Amino acid sequence: MLKVEHIGIAVKSLSISVPLFEKLLNTPCYKTEAVTSEQVQTAFFQRGETKIELLEATGPDSAIAKFVEKKGEGMHHIAFEVTDIYAEMKRLQSEGFTLLQDAPKHGADNKLICFLHPRSTNGVLVELCQEIK
Ligand code: ZN
Repeated sequence: MLKVEHIGIAVKSLSISVPLFEKLLNTPCYKTEAVTSEQVQTAFFQRGETKIELLEATGPDSAIAKFVEKKGEGMHHIAFEVTDIYAEMKRLQSEGFTLLQDAPKHGADNKLICFLHPRSTNGVLVELCQEIK
């Protein structure tokens, strides 16, 4: 794993939370992007090498909708950048971690992504991400 690439935060409303995080981080949101397969709308901020990804559900079946309903708004996942997501998935699986997918999928921000089950990571939802070149 190279670094913390971004931290994902589940919010109810981007129209409320984007201006809030712009004030908090003192930097404008540089990108919004819909991930239709996940029923989420995302908004990105960058500070140093790390990004903040705000996630708003766009449908009731979205994992973000279920998260917000159960736990309320807040920290949703930590994403680590990797150079070879396939190799890293294999390594983590052999170390006993539970992956939520058998194969990487396309995430926001031009990334291949894979999530680890929080059951195997002390309750923290971990995302692996690799930039698509
Ligand atoms: Zn993410």
